[in-house]
Amino acid sequence: MNNRTDAGEILLSGVSAAPGIVMGTVELYERQHPAVSVQKINDEEVEQHLKQFNEALSHAEQELNSLLKGQQNEDVAELLQAQIAMINDPDLRERVETEIKENKEPADAAIDKVLEVYLKLMDKNQQENTQKRSIDITDVRDQLIEILRHDKQHSIKDGAIIAAEELSPREVITFAKHKVQGIIMERGGETSHAAILARAMRIPTVVGLKDVFSAIQEGKPLILDGSRGEVVLNPSAETRKKYDEMAARAADDRMEHKKIIRRQSHTADGHEFTLRANIGFEEELPLLHNYDAKGIGLLRTESIFLNSDKPGSEQSQQRFYERVLQEAAPHPVTIRLFDAGGDKFFDLGQKEQNPFLGWRGIRMLLDEEETLRQQLRAILKAAVNYSGRVRILIPMVSSMEEVAAVKQILKQVQDKLLEEGYDIDADIKFGIMVEVPGTAMQISHFVHDVDFLSIGTNDLTQYLLAVDRGNERISDLYNQLHPSLWKLMKQIVDEAQSADIPVNVCGELASDPIGACGLIGLGVRELSMTPSALPEVKKILCDHTLDEMQQLAAAIVESATAKDVQKIITKF
Ligand code: PEP
Ligand code: MG
Repeated sequence: MNNRTDAGEILLSGVSAAPGIVMGTVELYERQHPAVSVQKINDEEVEQHLKQFNEALSHAEQELNSLLKGQQNEDVAELLQAQIAMINDPDLRERVETEIKENKEPADAAIDKVLEVYLKLMDKNQQENTQKRSIDITDVRDQLIEILRHDKQHSIKDGAIIAAEELSPREVITFAKHKVQGIIMERGGETSHAAILARAMRIPTVVGLKDVFSAIQEGKPLILDGSRGEVVLNPSAETRKKYDEMAARAADDRMEHKKIIRRQSHTADGHEFTLRANIGFEEELPLLHNYDAKGIGLLRTESIFLNSDKPGSEQSQQRFYERVLQEAAPHPVTIRLFDAGGDKFFDLGQKEQNPFLGWRGIRMLLDEEETLRQQLRAILKAAVNYSGRVRILIPMVSSMEEVAAVKQILKQVQDKLLEEGYDIDADIKFGIMVEVPGTAMQISHFVHDVDFLSIGTNDLTQYLLAVDRGNERISDLYNQLHPSLWKLMKQIVDEAQSADIPVNVCGELASDPIGACGLIGLGVRELSMTPSALPEVKKILCDHTLDEMQQLAAAIVESATAKDVQKIITKF
């Protein structure tokens, strides 16, 4: 989206990939297909080109290893290792050597030719994961050719804001060394490798910004707001002032939040509540400490699919869960089984007309039983050293049969592990996401089969109100403060209380301060939210009495329309 204002400013909207506001001038980083030699070599030159090629491989490996050295972030390390593996790929070496020996291609042209074939193969398979890999291949190609030709394609000024079509992980790491202030990318979603790394390295980043090169001029001033996913070109003095103030407020808020997170989690009249974090990526784990989250109320595990179309091996999954459990110690972690499909970012093969109503979550897992068994094995193996701290959560439950089927498989997996000589933690809690209205209506039956409930207001709202959560055109109808959602949630909470099982909320409603007050008023005592929302939510809960929040909840539940709720909130 692209809006021009009277002051000649242009507001470009993309997708937020890493938060923070920065102002400065922009440097365009254009990836050129590298120039390579066109002239064939003669027989006498073959040996020399083979030698140069092998030296370039060693040099590239050394460069990548030096980036890898001391790398704390596991995602970064994994991506660099993948590139090192590509450089050591015997197939790649053999093909390039054949081009040099048999077709008399000079080393740089041989690399270009061979990697072009790899890229063409990727192009045919237009899935997001293969797109991610093709940027890695392009990067290896450019790195090797750069080494052979001794020319750097780009030099980056320290502290610049970079605008590019797409960046490779290596480029983001190199930019971080140059202390770039911000990144704008035309391609790549918030889950692209570059976006993940930018978040890990705390470089404010906006992705998915169309037509970067036609819209943005090098050397011109701009404001990049990574939190909102926006870029303002040619900002007026007034806009600069506004953003300066926002940045200053953000700094003040950070100070204030530090004080808030040290407060006890009690309402103004002493009732206890628990705030946990929703985590989807490994690099978000430090946020648990920054915001003093009491563990993870929702671990989205879909990122395990990130580097391929399949989840990682059992061992790599186990390592991931162990790392999460270590970071969250001494608090509990609710691990949600893969919630593939719907808006989640991988391609499950066949296109569906209504993916949100389709083959997603537990429906997919019960069809792909091996994936489910592998995930359960990895969770159980990780859990054994963290007794009593792991909870397993099933996504997108729409029938009691699904719960029974998962329980049966869980039991089989536990028995098999025991048979293989592994210990297992007997104290693993087992719960369901309540995000399908049919399940919510039948909750009085489900409560006897599970240890806890987790209300997913994001999906429950879209299914209950028949409003697609990702459709901008009807976004004003998507309202988690709609009274019908609250009537249904009241039933869920009441039934959980009668059955004496815990109920928490992990949808975005819990990240909204007013929503959180209403939820505590409704009887929920555990909320899980976007980590950065924690201080605001904690403050408002600490500043109000339970009675005030109960009145708020009752008023919302009894409202006739969403407009009435708005009035109640304004008063609150
Ligand atoms: C939800 O639906 O509320 C939820 C927390 O799950 P997700 O947003 O991952 O679908
Ligand atoms: Mg959901």
